[in-house]
This record gives sequence, C-alpha cells and structure tokens, in this order.
Amino acid sequence: MHRFFIPQPYGEMMTITGVDARHIYTVLRMTQGTKIQIVSDDGVTALAEITEAGESVVTVKCLEVLAESHEPSVRIILAQGLAKGEKMDFIIQKAVELGVSEIVPVAMEHSVVRLESEKAVKKAERWQKIAEAAAKQSKRDVIPIVQPVQTMEQMLANNACSCKLIAYECEDKLGLKAALQKQQELKEVLLIIGPEGGISEAELHQAQAAGAWGVSLGKRILRAETAALVAAAAIFYETGDLGG
Ligand code: SAH
Repeated sequence: MHRFFIPQPYGEMMTITGVDARHIYTVLRMTQGTKIQIVSDDGVTALAEITEAGESVVTVKCLEVLAESHEPSVRIILAQGLAKGEKMDFIIQKAVELGVSEIVPVAMEHSVVRLESEKAVKKAERWQKIAEAAAKQSKRDVIPIVQPVQTMEQMLANNACSCKLIAYECEDKLGLKAALQKQQELKEVLLIIGPEGGISEAELHQAQAAGAWGVSLGKRILRAETAALVAAAAIFYETGDLGG
C-alpha cells in the first residue's frame, strides 16, 4: 500500500496537495475509494480512503489509526564526513531505509569534496528529497532530517547525545560491540563516520574531547559508505531493531 506524509496534524478528513497530489492523480491514477496509508506531521499513521482525487488536491478520509510503529527503539544520528557525490546519496538512502533518525553531513579535513555555501544548500535540499523518498519506500513513520553541512565543531556542539561513537580505522582496543554493551541504556547514538580520506587525528581528538569513544568496525578497512551502513546495521542489530 502506498504511504504519504501529510504536513498537517491528524484529522478525520485530510488533504494532500503539491507533488504528492499530482503523483496520486496522474502517475498512480488512484481514484475515489482507493486505500492508502497516511502519516500526519504529529506522527499518526492511519489507513485512509481517497474521497476525491484531482491533480492539485486529493482529499482522504481516515478510516483507522494504525498503532504499529515502524520506528526503531534507538535514535541514530549519523554524522557523515562529506563523501563524493553519489556516495552521499547512497549513504542517505540506505541509512534511512535501515532506520537512522537524522543525518548530519560534516565537512571534514580529509573530505575531497568542498561545498561552497550556495552549493551546500542545493545539496542539502537534494539529500532531504532522497531521505523523503527512502522514508516512504521503507514505510518509516517519520522523514529523517538531513541537516545542513556542518563543521566537526558545529556538529559536536549541536549533538549532546550521551552515547557518541567515532568509527576510527586505527582503533585496535575498543570494538563497536563492546562499546555498545558498555552503555547503560541505548536510546540515542551519535555515530561519526569519516569520509573516503578518513578522520584526521585532530578530528579524533576533537570528538574525544566532546565525549566520543573511538571504535573499531573490525580488522578490515571499509569504504566510507560501507562503514556508515555496517555500523548503523550493527547498532540496530544490537538493540533488536534489525530482525530482532
Ligand atoms: N583513509 C583511510 C580509510 C577511510 S575509510 C584509508 O584509506 O586507510 C572511511 C571511514 O570509515 C573511516 O574514517 C572510519 O570512520 C570508517 N572505517 C572504515 N573502516 C573502519 C574500521 N575497520 N574501523 C573503524 N572505522 C572504520
């Protein structure tokens, strides 16, 4: 069943406008009586029926609130060192599918990509769209936010999670699994992953000074996109959010 996010608080009658309305009417060719799932901006998921379909407005009547949540029990904020174009798209799409709650692109010292402010805004818009499409496809209850590109310092200042982990390929003492098991409670994790060029020593120290633990993802060096997705998947596995 198709799922649409409606930027309105939940109500019995709701209206879908903009690109989603056009998509329903002209692409999916849905008509009166077709059932869809809606998610309101106050987080209610409901079964709804189309009562009127038009190119610019689709009206739906909500039939039943669906209690089942598709959200994981742990919030992962993925702070991803800026990687080259398509890799970021891939990471964002897959991270959203896996259940990551927020993505912060971080301009790191060894990031090959440098985004001037105008380009960075355009990119952020594009990434947000990728996140939205992935959220719909994977039946998330929320659309994860892709934050504007930040420096390491800004990202650390903006994220005061009690559990902060920085995947560091030279770490040989603390593994991800042990780091997770040392936590009292796993409700929110700030997961920092480097770009293709890796994390600089200065960045590692900066993160550690902000309370992050350097963790290993095993003895092989993973590419940035592999590292981000593997680490997120391993955290979700540990908390029972991945087939648990
Ligand atoms: N520049 C490095 C590799 C960077 S890999 C090199 O070529 O040697 C990109 C990022 O993935 C790293 O910064 C780190 O955050 C993560 N990563 C990859 N493999 C890892 C591992 N085995 N343990 C921990 N982190 C890893």
